[in-house]
Amino acid sequence: MDNKQELLKQLPKIDEVLKDQRLFVFFEDNPRELVVEAVREEIDGLRSRILSGEPFSDGGLFREESMDRIKNKIKEKSANSLRRVINATGTIVHTNLGRANLSESACRRVAEIAASYSTLEYDVARGKRGSRHDHIEKMIRRLTGAEAAIAVNNNAAAVLLCLSALAKNKDVIVSRGELVEIGGSFRIPEIMEQGGAKLREVGTTNKTKVADYRKAIEDGEAGMLLKVHTSNYKIIGFTAEASLEELKELGKEHGIPVVHDLGSGLMIGLAEFGIDEPTVKASLDAGADLVLFSGDKLLGGPQAGIVVGKKEYVDRMKHHPLARALRLDKLTLAALEATFREYIDPERAKSNIPVLSMITSSQEEMQRKAESLKDMILARTDRFLVSIEETEGQIGGGSTPNLFLPGVSVSIKADGMSPDHIERSLRAADPPVISRINKDNVLLDMRTVYVSELPEIASALLGISEKKGESHA
Ligand SMILES: *Cc1c(COP(=O)(O)O)cnc(C)c1O
Repeated sequence: MDNKQELLKQLPKIDEVLKDQRLFVFFEDNPRELVVEAVREEIDGLRSRILSGEPFSDGGLFREESMDRIKNKIKEKSANSLRRVINATGTIVHTNLGRANLSESACRRVAEIAASYSTLEYDVARGKRGSRHDHIEKMIRRLTGAEAAIAVNNNAAAVLLCLSALAKNKDVIVSRGELVEIGGSFRIPEIMEQGGAKLREVGTTNKTKVADYRKAIEDGEAGMLLKVHTSNYKIIGFTAEASLEELKELGKEHGIPVVHDLGSGLMIGLAEFGIDEPTVKASLDAGADLVLFSGDKLLGGPQAGIVVGKKEYVDRMKHHPLARALRLDKLTLAALEATFREYIDPERAKSNIPVLSMITSSQEEMQRKAESLKDMILARTDRFLVSIEETEGQIGGGSTPNLFLPGVSVSIKADGMSPDHIERSLRAADPPVISRINKDNVLLDMRTVYVSELPEIASALLGISEKKGESHA
């Protein structure tokens, strides 16, 4: 008991610790409150240890380790929750890692519009109120030839708005083969309910004919023919589906809109790179009255849902009360306009929009990155066995489910270190490096990694080898 009292007396005061010059650097970049909190927590921790009777070694109570813990606590407390990571998974549209990286021009435009007043809803020529829809509508019309366009919060919101504005209390006819669930609880039947529309399933899982739609129209009060692109699965074998051309004829006959939920939002054909997704324009040309797609999948822009097509339908969506709740903010509009602008020249789009440049990245380009990373690692540590492997990447984000893009990975292995340990340590680095494990190796896929990130990956690995060295010593 006496001993405990003795130790408690030795505990330093917060103010004393704050005078330690090893903490001075932290006051420059952090609020004082945060540093004080870290010191308090350390002292509280020591106090609990004393009270629990834990023995302390001769070095005294408050030693080098306390200072290290305080420094780590300050770093933890000052780290943002939403952080940059290095995506070395090879999955391009990685939903958990934020889907699409924006182009440089889009990033610049976001920063510019964020920092100042803008023409968001102001027509400078007339000195009057303008519409936020105008900024991207002109550009989308130009690129797709559509009559009109509107963009909302995401594609799920676009589907919801479309159903609410065009098919409330009416039948929406969908093939049983297309009742899709997109990750994160977006299910066509449920969104239908939310939109106040009545789901009318037709056909079977593998076969739906245009006659099935026709029968449903004749049997009820149809408000929409909805075709959903099965972007995250494929039905193969004994199959049949009604084409957009056929649905267009049928819709025209009965005055019912044909809506195509395309999801992926591919703007330029990428067949030569093995991507057999339909483009937005192909869907419009085939007869869809409205095409709906995501902003941050294959389009390569910010999170958004874009609707293009017939003016009469788009206008109804613009004027629906939900449009106000689902509308885009100025930052997203700035990014979206800049992204679409890249598509005026498709070649520029392929090199400037990260999603597209990653898809179209050549084998040689990825090989060069891999060799460069391998050299960087081996120049700094001999702790790892480093090799270069041909691997397969994916588009991800629920796009092109059975398509694997042949790529190049740097494969890492180390004696006395499990792949799990390496993978975990890479995630703990700053910035975190997200890799994947294949058998005994950790793979760093070069398709989704920027050249500028290679030194950061090498440093992260060096960090692991040094830490491991310490623990052996
Ligand atoms: C991805 C997708 C959605 C949902 O889009 P979000 O932008 O993620 O809301 C809806 N429909 C289809 C067919 C999709 O592929």
